[in-house]
Amino acid sequence: MRARHKPWADDYLKDNQELVELNPVENKGKWQQLISKDKPLHLEIGTGKGQFIEGMAAQYPYIHFIGIELVKSIIVSAVEKVKDAERSNVTLINEDAQDLSDLFEDDEIDQIYLNFSDPWPKNRHEKRRLTYHAFLKQYQRILKPNGELVLKTDNRGLFEYSLVSFSQFGCTLEEVTLDLHALEDPTNVMTEYEEKFSAKGQPIYRCRVQFPI
Ligand code: SAM
Repeated sequence: MRARHKPWADDYLKDNQELVELNPVENKGKWQQLISKDKPLHLEIGTGKGQFIEGMAAQYPYIHFIGIELVKSIIVSAVEKVKDAERSNVTLINEDAQDLSDLFEDDEIDQIYLNFSDPWPKNRHEKRRLTYHAFLKQYQRILKPNGELVLKTDNRGLFEYSLVSFSQFGCTLEEVTLDLHALEDPTNVMTEYEEKFSAKGQPIYRCRVQFPI
């Protein structure tokens, strides 16, 4: 996802601290107490411009959503979207998901979403894929015992790689869908990429997995 450099992004994030957590490591182990109160915590990794997290927050006001996005000039658009919609059950973090264990305590998260993650098709970039086993180890740690991970993508190669990676890790595949939109699931909230690729006629793949306890 490309975004123009936004020299004002730092100030904008600082000015919107009701939505943006600038020092997320300080919340490790205390997210529920400090941020979500009694609400379950759902985490989206690679939030992009925020269409999914805003739509989910609208659909599920009794859940608190945390979005992590690596690129500052992109997360700014997510902040704008969530702010315009006046959602109070969203927190956005400008961080690299490599460091998830610094941000969340074991068993702190109820659900994880990976939406249209970068596929990194070259073998030498395998470690960057968000379903590489080092990432799965972190997801297993921070997810509650019956917590789930939901992945959506248009990329067949990443989907196949992820299914193998989940299986080798000992995950249970609760659902594997090769054409999500054929299900006409009214609860499905589309991401920016999902809209773009499905408009071109590409099938959208989805799986839901549980980690071994
Ligand atoms: N999820 C959005 C969607 O479906 O429209 C955006 C998809 S875009 C292809 C992938 C996004 O993940 C980009 O915004 C990218 O900056 C972010 N990303 C990639 N690696 C990341 C990481 N390690 N930590 C946090 N965000 C990451």
